[in-house]
Amino acid sequence: MKCGKIVCVGQNYRAHIKELKSEVPQEPVLFLKPSSALIADGDTIIVPPNLGRVDYEVELAVIIGKRCKNVSAAEALSYVGSVAVFNDVTARDVQSVARKAGLPWSLAKGMDTFAPISAALPIANVKELQDLHLELKLNGEIRQNGNTSMMIFPVVEIISYSSRYMTLEPGDIIATGTPEGVGAIKDGDVIEAKIDGIGKMRNPVKVMH
Ligand code: MG
Repeated sequence: MKCGKIVCVGQNYRAHIKELKSEVPQEPVLFLKPSSALIADGDTIIVPPNLGRVDYEVELAVIIGKRCKNVSAAEALSYVGSVAVFNDVTARDVQSVARKAGLPWSLAKGMDTFAPISAALPIANVKELQDLHLELKLNGEIRQNGNTSMMIFPVVEIISYSSRYMTLEPGDIIATGTPEGVGAIKDGDVIEAKIDGIGKMRNPVKVMH
């Protein structure tokens, strides 16, 4: 199934909002990443030169199985085909400069290789979407350790909200936000991200000079 778009939710975990010194949103904060940024488990995250700080962000991703438009939260789950582990790689310095200037930060999120995703698991194999343990290790050390129960907007609300404004097509990916513990990556790093019962992936980092 081809991915047409990646809908991402920013600031969906309180502790992460705090570490970004941001404020708790009243509605889901949506942004898009292009599907050209997707890479798979084992692929290398390639960081262009002179970007400054670039961060990892482990997230639960859901992949749409059936076209949906204007669905309620109660029916949202029936439109999900599968789930996966996602890394919302972010050029943090580029994003911060844009945010301060009130400009879009698409570039900071949308570069090639900035969307690693694991193999997908059919939704039927998931017991409880809102009680999944997420973990990210940088060079073998645990850096992010969270649970989807800590989301401000649960998955079904994100799907319902998005579908009011954007038709979600089969293959579209929804990345549901990252817990606290985001941090910078550098050349030669290895990132291992996993969600218990869902999957895992490992991506080395190459920073270009
Ligand atoms: Mg994110």
